[in-house]
This record gives sequence, C-alpha cells and structure tokens, in this order.
Amino acid sequence: MSWDTQRSGAGPVDSELVSLDAAELARRIHAREVSSVEVTRAHLERIEAVDGPAESGVHAFLHLDADGALAAAGAADRAIADGGPVSPLAGVPIALKDNLTTTDMPTTCASRILEGWRPPYDATVVTRLRAAGLVPLGKTNLDEFAMGSSTENSAFGPSRNPWDLTRIPGGSGGGSSSAVAAGESPLALGSDTGGSIRQPGAVTGTVGVKPTYGTVSRYGLVAFSSSLDQIGPCARSVLDAALLHEVIGGKDANDQTSVSAPLPPVVEAAQAGARGDLAGVRVGVVSEFSGEGYHSGVLAAFTDAVRVLGELGADVVEVSCPSFAYALPAYYLIAPSEASSNLARFDAMRYGLRVGDDGEHAADEVMSLTREAGFGAEVKRRIMIGTHALSAGSYDALYGKAQKARTLIVRDFTAAFETCDVLVSPTTPTTAFAIGERSDDPLAMYLADLCTIPSNLAGNAALSVPCGRSADDGLPVGLQVMAPALADDRAYRVAAAYEAATAGSAAGPRIPELRALETSR
Ligand code: GLN
Repeated sequence: MSWDTQRSGAGPVDSELVSLDAAELARRIHAREVSSVEVTRAHLERIEAVDGPAESGVHAFLHLDADGALAAAGAADRAIADGGPVSPLAGVPIALKDNLTTTDMPTTCASRILEGWRPPYDATVVTRLRAAGLVPLGKTNLDEFAMGSSTENSAFGPSRNPWDLTRIPGGSGGGSSSAVAAGESPLALGSDTGGSIRQPGAVTGTVGVKPTYGTVSRYGLVAFSSSLDQIGPCARSVLDAALLHEVIGGKDANDQTSVSAPLPPVVEAAQAGARGDLAGVRVGVVSEFSGEGYHSGVLAAFTDAVRVLGELGADVVEVSCPSFAYALPAYYLIAPSEASSNLARFDAMRYGLRVGDDGEHAADEVMSLTREAGFGAEVKRRIMIGTHALSAGSYDALYGKAQKARTLIVRDFTAAFETCDVLVSPTTPTTAFAIGERSDDPLAMYLADLCTIPSNLAGNAALSVPCGRSADDGLPVGLQVMAPALADDRAYRVAAAYEAATAGSAAGPRIPELRALETSR
C-alpha cells in the first residue's frame, strides 16, 4: 500500500484546537478565549480533511450534522456569555456511536436493515449530554449491531486506524475511537458488550471506559446483549473520560437495570490520581493474560507499565483467575443467545427496510426476505448460534453451561478483589491488525476480546489507558485496569496516576498527521 503524499488538506494538523483535551477546550471556551462555534468548526474542518473518502480516509463517521452541531455550539456560547453556571463540558464537541438513538440524526447500527429509520426518542445519554451543553457532531461507524472487533462488519465499509490507515481501528466502536484518535472529535460515546470501547481504545491509543454495569442508562442503546451491554466514554485523557462519565452516568427510571447507588466519584479520582502516588494500592497482575497469542511488543509495553505502577508505590502481586479461560466460549454463547432474542424485533414491520412488500408475499415471507437482505453475515451467524444455544435440545449443554461458567468468572473476580484493589492486564493480545487479515476467520477475530470479556460477564468496571507503543510495529498498546463493581473510581485513580507519570515520555505527536491512502488509479 502506498501513500499519496501529494494530497492536500489531509496533511499536517491545521488547527491546534483539534489536538487539545476536552478539559482544556472547556477551560478555554468557558474563559471565552475561544468560542464553542470556533472549536466545533475546527473539528468539522478536520473531519472534512481526514475522514473521507470512505474507501481511503479514516471513515469514522456514518453521518455528520454540521448545522446541528454549529447550532448547539452557538447555544452553548450564548449560555456562557449569559454568565450563568454551565456544565464542565459545555461547548465541547462529541461523536456518538451509531447504535445510540437520536431524534435529529439517523440511527443505523451500521446495518441495512435500519435503512431510513428515524428513532422517535433520544437515548438517555444523549439527552444528558445535550442538557450539559455538549455538541454532537455526528454518528460513528461500528460493526453491524456492535458485533465484531474491527468495524469490518459495518454495512458501510470499515473505519481505519489513524496511526496506520491500512489497519483496523478495533471494534465494534472503531468509529468512535478513531474519531478521537484522529482529532476529529475530542470525545465520543461507545458501547461495550465484550470490549467494544476498551479494545478500540487500546489499538488507537485512546482512553476507553466500560463503567460498572447498570451505572449508565442503556435506554436508547439498540440492544445487542442486554445483560452485558454498557455505554461508556472514549477520550484522549483519563480526566476527559471521567468528566464525560459524570455527564452520562446515574440512575434512570427508563432502564430497569439502572442501579440507584450513587455514581462513584470518578472525576475526583482522576484528579487525585494525576496529583498523587499509588502508595498502598494493591495491584493484581492477572497471570492468565499472557503467553501464546500475545505479541511480544504488547507484553513488553505492559510489563513496563506494571513497573511504573510499582514505582508509583503500588504493591504489585500476581493473581490467578483460572476460570477466565472459559470467558470467551461463555460469551460467545450468552451474547448470541441474547442477540437472537433482541434482534427478533427487526421483523420488517416496525423499523426500516421492508423487502417483498408487493402484495405477492405473505407477512412471514416479507420478514424472511427482509432479514435475508438486511442483516450481514456475522449478524446472521450470531442469530443462528444463539437460536441453537437456546433450543430445547441444547439449552442445558450450551446456554446453561455458559451461565455456570459466568458464575465461576464472577467468583474469580470476587476472590481476586479480596486481596487486590484493582487488576491489570494488557487490553488486547495484539496491536491493530491489517484490514482483511482476520475477516475470514471468526475465531481469530473473537480472540481480540480475550482480556476484556471477563469484566462484561461479571459486570465490574474496567478501562483501557494508552501504555506506549509496541516495539514490534510502533502501534499503540493499551493497559487494562479492572475494578470491582461500583468502584470505577479506583480504576480512574490508577490510570490517571499512570498517565501522569508517563506524560511526555511517548515519542511522537498526540494525533497523527494523516494522508488518505492512495486510491487505486
Ligand atoms: N467483539 C465482541 C463481539 O463481537 C464485542 C463486541 C462489543 O463489545 N459490542 O461480540
């Protein structure tokens, strides 16, 4: 693959604004050193320069709403000029994964089956960020219905990793993470069912957080696997993620799994972590997450990160969680089982696409023609696996057994958290792989979530923070920090301390200078 060095516009970063943290942008906007409209414009220009064309640019966005964004930015500027209290992130742009419902933009889940559908309501997280004055720029690409680890399962073509456009940006939320990594948006929202915020965060060199299950409302998140799905922040710093976490989190009567417990003090923890050391914090290194299948460059970066945690005063020990070996097979029975039920709602009657509605076909034929045309191969595979796992003859041997494995994984976490405050591991076994490399090998694709899935099955908090580059290929590596349920603040504290201790040591720019890939001539 060659690079088109002649291409103008998609070269050096044209505005400093697109490389700043959300917290710094908010500070400047609130001090009226720059307006939210100017900040929003700079990001729209950056998107214009690097996101397209779809065949060769970053392709983080499926839908842009420049007019809506500039209107929201203008409203934020007026609120600030009025001098009243504004939320800490008022005026800051944000990108939304396209499985979150929005009344003013389409919601496609990167699937043909939702073509033309306009949701009648905003997701709770969207309502909250609008109320807090954030500025939605558009909707980001994902693997269809969030099923995948690379965004290659999008019906609209893959997103690309801004650090190497020939490689995947992770998935399913590769659009959100690549937008943040590329300077197209300082913040984004993702959803994490098996790793879809943390794994893209790791491979794009950004921060990705899966909050404790039930602490961020799933109302308006198109359901994939309801007992695992969780919305969370994507950002370029730990503090930015915490600030966004506080905007979206907290009890919501519209989500029955929403918990009443107060949101852990994540912003305070991120600030304390950045200022302080980790004296007395007990850090457990999960011994199962290394060995065969892990890149040596990933393990080296991880080992170095653990050394830094030790230097910060943490007590580092090894812990074994033997049942984590069952996490991947358990997940790939439970998630498809729930998906097979959740995706039954796409029946050609209620949403989007309808094929064969010509008076010649009965309703059940219209349904199957629509599902045949509207769902991609991976979605069909999951529906079939899930339907089989739930069928009378297989239920106990497959779905039932997976639920038992899930219990064992929960117990491993409980035991580990008796002696450790947090657990750490690499976020992913490898760095970003090449686009196309694993598309014909579902098992290889599933392995990308080996380290992230246990926290979805157990429901605890987990995040990924950048921990340098792999010496093998120069690509970003992620450090995963896992904390007990409702102790998200611990993960933020450790990640912020690590980030502060290593600030400035990473070679190279914070966001890449991008040149679109040369398209075939
Ligand atoms: N990659 C995993 C899957 O394909 C996780 C996806 C997610 O977290 N949404 O199911």
